[in-house]
Amino acid sequence: MPIDITTFRRVVFFTGAGMSAESGVPTYRGAGGIWKNYNYEEYACQAAFDEDPAGVWRFHNYRRELVGGCAPNQGHRLIAQCEAQLAQVTVITQNIDGLHQKAGSRAVIELHGSLWRVRDEISGDVEENFDVPFKGEMADGRWWRPDITWFGDSLNEHAIREAVSAIQECDCFISIGTSAVVYPAARLPYYAVDAGATCMEINPESTPLSSVYEHRLRSSATDALGEICHALDADSV
Ligand code: NAD
Repeated sequence: MPIDITTFRRVVFFTGAGMSAESGVPTYRGAGGIWKNYNYEEYACQAAFDEDPAGVWRFHNYRRELVGGCAPNQGHRLIAQCEAQLAQVTVITQNIDGLHQKAGSRAVIELHGSLWRVRDEISGDVEENFDVPFKGEMADGRWWRPDITWFGDSLNEHAIREAVSAIQECDCFISIGTSAVVYPAARLPYYAVDAGATCMEINPESTPLSSVYEHRLRSSATDALGEICHALDADSV
């Protein structure tokens, strides 16, 4: 029997870089996971920003340019349709690209921040900003910091609490396009298992967490979502 998403009431989609691969955003790991000319870890950490904020902004402006030219794919759109048609849908994403929101999803928890927000490190103020490129430097010579969880940063506690609470209440948990090696995010699927939810993994490759999932769909995000969302009303978004 094919899985039918409309038989569930409270669904959590837990997404990683593979969710946006078919939009043209490169993944970090897995086939095609390369970041042109950059050693990711050298440009996405607080120490690099403290040392060379302009260099870190060059990297993030490269990412803004790349992601800014990408549109949500059919998978993002189907997830947004689920939110419109099912009782409760939450997207918990490790992605920073904003493509779920662009596709129409509203209940989105961004575990690792957003490429499209900047933060004043002194006041803590956070602002949306869609400039490409973004200048980064303030009038007084200080720098806006990308509002992103970098290597070595702690996760936003509020986001984690919200995510755990949504997972503990869900009856269906669907992991899509994550290599399941970035912690603490990779621990989240265990809450769904403990809650007795139906758990699925969508990923063309197996991951260290594959064995915890009852269903393993070894295809792309768009193909697998197309399959499990076959009973959605195609006309309503
Ligand atoms: P990852 O790059 O480590 O792993 C990507 C996974 O996606 C792999 O397991 C791969 O097999 C799978 N995949 C590739 N194409 C797919 C497709 N079409 N459909 C379904 N799955 C597919 O990604 P991660 O686990 O999210 O960890 C990377 C970290 O880097 C995250 O913290 C994330 O914030 C960041 N990142 C974000 C983006 C983005 O915002 N789009 C892109 C790259 C990296």
